[in-house]
Amino acid sequence: MTDGKIWEAMLKLRVFTPWMVLKELNPPSFLKQYVKEKIRSLINAQVKAGILAILNDNPPVFGFPGESVEKIMRECGICRKLFIPVQDSDQHCSDECEREYRKRFLRKMRKEKGMEERRRYEKWEEELIWETLSKHGCKSAILQELARKLNRHPQAIKSKFKKMKRQRRAVA
Ligand SMILES: [Zn+2]
Repeated sequence: MTDGKIWEAMLKLRVFTPWMVLKELNPPSFLKQYVKEKIRSLINAQVKAGILAILNDNPPVFGFPGESVEKIMRECGICRKLFIPVQDSDQHCSDECEREYRKRFLRKMRKEKGMEERRRYEKWEEELIWETLSKHGCKSAILQELARKLNRHPQAIKSKFKKMKRQRRAVA
């Protein structure tokens, strides 16, 4: 990886953090550390020469004089504030928004998994599931009908029935 190649990437990006240049060059993994150091020393030299400017201190953002740091900012997925990504995977402006994102993500996952975990089954509900599914089997129309009656997800009812079968087999 020559300085020329690195410089080409910087000219193309105009505004960048060191990892953005590395991503643009995409060197094989055994060269990554070497290229990283080359990028750093080239940036230092160009800043000293006044060809590149420091556009932001922390996290460090560099660019050609007159360019704006906004060019590399991303919008936080939670609060919509603009922020500078410290690494490529950053989607949120702060730890707080990252936590909020995880909280929402988990909530969504649980909801999609069905309502089984959220609410205990009443005795009559268990009996209805047992009788209906033992008689008719887990056909999707039957499951959907039960799901409507019990206000649960069809998949949750099916897994509840399976669990009941296991329990009854264990008792017998
Ligand atoms: Zn945010």
